[in-house]
Amino acid sequence: AKKAVLGPLVGAVDQGTSSTRFLVFNSKTAELLSHHQVEIKQEFPREGWVEQDPKEILMSVYECIEKTCEKLEQLNIDISNIKAIGVSNQRETTVVWDKITGEPLYNAVVWLDLRTQSTVENLTKRIPGNNFIKSKTGLPLSTYFSAVKVRWLLDNVKKVQRAVEEDRALFGTIDSWLIWCLTGGINGGVHCTDVTNASRTMLFNIHSLEWDKELCEFFEIPMKILPNVRSSSEIYGLMKAGALEGVPISGCLGDQSAALVGQMCFRDGQAKNTYGTGCFLLCNTGRKCVFSEHGLLTTVAYKLGRDKPVYYALEGSVAIAGAVIRWLRDNLGIINSSDEIEKLAKEVGTSYGCYFVPAFSGLYAPYWEPSARGIICGLTQFTNKCHIAFAALEAVCFQTREILDAMNRDCGIPLSHLQVDGGMTSNKILMQLQADILYIPVVKPSMPETTALGAAMAAGAAEGVGVWSLEPDDLSAVTVERFEPQINAEESEIRFSTWKKAVMKSMGWVT
Ligand code: ADP
Repeated sequence: AKKAVLGPLVGAVDQGTSSTRFLVFNSKTAELLSHHQVEIKQEFPREGWVEQDPKEILMSVYECIEKTCEKLEQLNIDISNIKAIGVSNQRETTVVWDKITGEPLYNAVVWLDLRTQSTVENLTKRIPGNNFIKSKTGLPLSTYFSAVKVRWLLDNVKKVQRAVEEDRALFGTIDSWLIWCLTGGINGGVHCTDVTNASRTMLFNIHSLEWDKELCEFFEIPMKILPNVRSSSEIYGLMKAGALEGVPISGCLGDQSAALVGQMCFRDGQAKNTYGTGCFLLCNTGRKCVFSEHGLLTTVAYKLGRDKPVYYALEGSVAIAGAVIRWLRDNLGIINSSDEIEKLAKEVGTSYGCYFVPAFSGLYAPYWEPSARGIICGLTQFTNKCHIAFAALEAVCFQTREILDAMNRDCGIPLSHLQVDGGMTSNKILMQLQADILYIPVVKPSMPETTALGAAMAAGAAEGVGVWSLEPDDLSAVTVERFEPQINAEESEIRFSTWKKAVMKSMGWVT
């Protein structure tokens, strides 16, 4: 059969906490042509620990690329039209590997992991000044960020210590690990990261856009193991193997930055909320670094080219969103698949006074309370699994309300609507509940894969690739689905204030 004639195509790896995807877009129309997805195992070897296998992650990327290419061939689309690949990834998750053997020296320590709690406590005692870390990095000292995970690996894993001494160790977040492997690994792999991923390590100065010597000294992390920091849109290297061998990798963004780009939030004050394993609300603050008074992070939004300016964002991070649905599936077994939650919740249409605070990893924004643990409260004889399912969905919405409130206070101008994306947004009950609880419209693009789209845009726009134009007007016409608030504001407030009571009860469980 004759091959379909299309313009240049761009691929994107979307390596999330729950799954890996590879997607291919038409660079002229942003149309999604084909994709493949593989779920990733999460290991919980001890209470509070969360690990993933870096090699499983890498193999899942190759598998997704190969399967997507097969699907494209079946659609009569020539894969030689793929001109660039972008990478978007779960942030903060930490890998240390051996550059001589190419082997990881330990499992990936996932962003949600809590093992570093005592590391954090010890470091807190030694902080030189009140604002030492926050003013350089925009982040509070917490188990969440990579520096403390690297510190833990250096303190606890002999293989890592030895490899550092022998000059064989490389550190990276998932983007670095993947790009190093995909561009050749032990045969000339490129050890790099982009400014957005670097800004989540807690070793990166978000003003100078360089690794910070003082921070590396404070955490006692040797600078020689750190990747080179590049912009989010430039050619890092070429694919060394597989169906797309020779194609440049030319885009790299942490997943939340990628979603901000994919949602076209290029202007000051534009924001998006992504509902995946966790929930992350980012608001573009333009070229200035805004520091929060209300528990939000300051982070690098993107820098789309070596000579392009850097943009910053305020971020509200919620650790557990989709993860609570996965927990109901895997740990309680009240559903067999994540989408069954909608049916259960629909059966009752209310939590019947049941509140579920999923503080499995402590509470992130706006509380940053490591002592919190999950609670389900307000139970009666009448409560059943449907109410608990409903309460789990409501919890995601309440947590978003808390970070939206913080964002509005920090920015001064309240958001008039909320742009959303991520795996959970296919759940219509969740979207309606969110509009009710925020009391503003919730707006979802018709193409929900905005994270991958953002990475593809960065890759396609890179110097030397040039198949995607990033003129904002070019891209503004995305069809959307809207959810309008349907309950009255008073009811919404009562439910929210009861939620806050439940949050207070979740705190102080561990000391
Ligand atoms: P990530 O980017 O963190 O890997 P995704 O955006 O792929 O996450 O979303 C997956 C998460 O969304 C999982 O935690 C899953 O439990 C949840 N999820 C998927 N479908 C639904 C649904 N229909 N209703 C509620 N939650 C869902």
